[in-house]
Amino acid sequence: MSLIDNYKIPESRPEPNPGTLYIVGTPIGNLGDLSDRAKNILKTVTLIACEDTRKSGQLLKRIGSNKPLLSYHQHNTKSRLPQILKIIQDRGSVALISDAGLPGISDPGEELVHAAKQNNYEVICIPGPCAAITALVTSGLPSQRFCFEGFLPTKKQIREKVIKDIAEEKRTTIIYESPHRLIKLLEQLSNFCGRERPIQVSRELTKRYEESIGSTIGEVLDHFKFKDPQGEFTLVLEGKSKFNNQQKISESEAIHKLKSLIIKGEKSITASKKIAKETGYDKKWLYSQLNKKLDK
Ligand code: SAM
Repeated sequence: MSLIDNYKIPESRPEPNPGTLYIVGTPIGNLGDLSDRAKNILKTVTLIACEDTRKSGQLLKRIGSNKPLLSYHQHNTKSRLPQILKIIQDRGSVALISDAGLPGISDPGEELVHAAKQNNYEVICIPGPCAAITALVTSGLPSQRFCFEGFLPTKKQIREKVIKDIAEEKRTTIIYESPHRLIKLLEQLSNFCGRERPIQVSRELTKRYEESIGSTIGEVLDHFKFKDPQGEFTLVLEGKSKFNNQQKISESEAIHKLKSLIIKGEKSITASKKIAKETGYDKKWLYSQLNKKLDK
């Protein structure tokens, strides 16, 4: 008897189980990533809760599911929760899907799962693609310990504080970002982590124009000088370590060094370049700070 003959395939239970909420992962681009198990659930549950009924309707049409869809998103959570829970209470089964990827990961889902658990209903995940994990495992950066930030806050001060914290984080950090904010985010990361900090920017994962851009913040910034960011992006940033800790001095110390060089007769641009190299702060940022200070 061979090893293969000896291998026992784990038994699976019949699905869908009455009175259950299924969290179903759907593709982040490549439709081939929808599993047989996910297809089966989406064809057999009582109801499918989704972010956008038109988008999910297309997916369901492709797989031949005619199950009813109910919109569930951040603006109607309050009214929809009782409706969905009632179906589960009546021994029906509900599948929750998002527009793409795993519900609950920067997508609606968390509150529904919490409410189902509070009511002692069973919650089962049908695992599927997740942009964060897909980007992490292809990054080549440490994946033993990592943290997920999702989309960073947009309010200036809070955002800056979060980026400062990320710069100090020792574990690998995963960030979601929209194409129109990507360059600004990379500049901010460059200021706080240094141009040399390893990063991988994953674009259009699982899709036709999938691309990995790296390997340092500086290189990625240079790449986007010539190419407008388009599509969907996930960033994987290496954590701070003694090997990539470029910025040993504070912002004000760096600006002070810069001004001292200029007082000694160095031109502003040359001085900014020199201090950028010495401290890891971005030269454009240093130059802009210098103008700010001189304006005062
Ligand atoms: N729940 C989803 C998941 O599990 O992947 C994430 C939803 S979040 C609203 C969407 C963000 O995820 C995008 O703006 C982008 O940052 C990232 N993302 C989704 N699909 C992607 C892809 N194919 N390639 C790169 N990043 C992607």
